[in-house]
Amino acid sequence: MEIIRVIPQGYCQGVVRAIHIVKKTIDENPNVPIAMLGMIVHNRAVVNACRQCGISVLDHPHKTRLQLLDAVQEGIVIFTAHGVSDAVYEKARGKGLQIVDATCPDVRRTHDLVRAHCRKGDVLYIGKRFHPEAEGICGISGRVHLIADPGDLETCGPLQNPLITTQTTLSQLDAAALIALCRKKWPEAIVAPEICRATTIRQNAILNLQAVDLLLVVGDPRSNNSRQLCEIGKAAGIPNNILLENALQLRKEDFLSYEKIAVTSGSSTPPVLTEQVLDVLRNYAENRIWRVPEHLPSIF
Ligand code: SF4
Repeated sequence: MEIIRVIPQGYCQGVVRAIHIVKKTIDENPNVPIAMLGMIVHNRAVVNACRQCGISVLDHPHKTRLQLLDAVQEGIVIFTAHGVSDAVYEKARGKGLQIVDATCPDVRRTHDLVRAHCRKGDVLYIGKRFHPEAEGICGISGRVHLIADPGDLETCGPLQNPLITTQTTLSQLDAAALIALCRKKWPEAIVAPEICRATTIRQNAILNLQAVDLLLVVGDPRSNNSRQLCEIGKAAGIPNNILLENALQLRKEDFLSYEKIAVTSGSSTPPVLTEQVLDVLRNYAENRIWRVPEHLPSIF
């Protein structure tokens, strides 16, 4: 069995920055209640580490950021790397909360692009329904139209001076397919894809893999960029893929039939979790010893 570490993988600069902001906020405000509006990044281990540090993490699959804010009455509110709409900002200010904004600069750039274009026309935003980044962008203006699947094109009426842009963590292949459909309907549209560099180079690293049996992605199932890595693996012709959160979920029988296994991780996955997975697989490949750790390492 051969184990290949895919490079690059793991934390992107936006996630490193967001976690640094959270840790700094905790250190500098020992006696202030701190709430986080959603998961700082889509990784359960990171969120649990935040909770252990005393942060109240507000998360609900059917509630918007605006609705989640109802539960915060005092202290500090942290906005996550995915960004928020102006309405969330205004509501937090209206409640007298101290705002700590960990929005990734790449997401902020998409906000700026969309906000500027809405002054002169409509925006077709290719993104995931119910994803917080899409919620933040769609909250900019009624001129932003979410395109999550081809069916959404049917409901868009006549558009003025349309711009097509994308969520930062999409599969570049899925985005290209939806962009092509949009251009068919609105050939005059300007195209400005916003898939970030971190996402692009992690996906390209998989597209460039040669003759791999299995792609193992270490990441949270709620992480869009982790799920996309599995999809990119399929598009690259890799016949099998597994998405798991950490080494405790490894089962020997899932790996026995493969000759060449490539291991990557989502940009929200703590590197220590991926290292544990790699240690288990390499130990088996080199020494035929399958030993899964009993505990997960500390995240912060
Ligand atoms: Fe920012 Fe891209 Fe990382 Fe998202 S994946 S936090 S947009 S750098």
